[in-house]
Amino acid sequence: MIIAIDGPSGAGKSTVAKSVAKKLGFSCLDTGAMYRCIAWCALEEQADLSDGERLGAIAREKEISFGHVEGDPVPRRVFVDGVEVTDAIRTATIDKSVSTVSAHPPVRAALVDQQRRIGNAGDFVIEGRDIGTVVFPNAEVKVFLTASNEERARRRVLQNEQRGVGSVDFDEVLADIVRRDEQDSNRATAPLVAADDAVAIDSTGKTIDDVIEDICERARALRRDAE
Ligand code: C5P
Repeated sequence: MIIAIDGPSGAGKSTVAKSVAKKLGFSCLDTGAMYRCIAWCALEEQADLSDGERLGAIAREKEISFGHVEGDPVPRRVFVDGVEVTDAIRTATIDKSVSTVSAHPPVRAALVDQQRRIGNAGDFVIEGRDIGTVVFPNAEVKVFLTASNEERARRRVLQNEQRGVGSVDFDEVLADIVRRDEQDSNRATAPLVAADDAVAIDSTGKTIDDVIEDICERARALRRDAE
């Protein structure tokens, strides 16, 4: 089974995806981390961020992998060609460049290929922007998770504080998520948009536990129906 969780940055996708995966015994895949890895590689190589072909070649050549912190069933560590980039891909510099990198069709083609290969290997919760629309249009459960801009900025600041990486300035974070939404929603290829058959969940007034339980219950109901 594939559970697709799409939505703008800071809506709580990562927390929700990881908890749902843990509860259901699914694997989980953070596709935003993959685009961040390519942005990190591009900056390391001082590549021109407007050169889609060059960035596409980077996305095809680099091996992105995930790893576990001991005792945690969900993967939180990220590697590029064996080099750990878990924190390096969460900096404000990456926040600023990732949407430019992810807009290039050759980059998307390379990563979508990898995401399909990974997701087809078992039961997965996959979070991103285009999982229910492009990567897995036949996903059994599709959720489009949103929250108000302010709520999302608050959560992102808290997350950055906990991780000790990225900006913790509310106004800077708010400006970044609004700019990134705008860029992600208006790109020509695979823009951020809810799939027609996605369940829209606005998490602004809800606890994250309610959202997690709602999604788990949808998956369990499908399982029961299939039995
Ligand atoms: O989810 P996260 O904020 O880490 O994603 C970083 C960026 O990666 C997004 O702003 C977007 O530009 C890109 N992305 C994408 N498609 C996905 C996941 C992320 O374009 N499926």
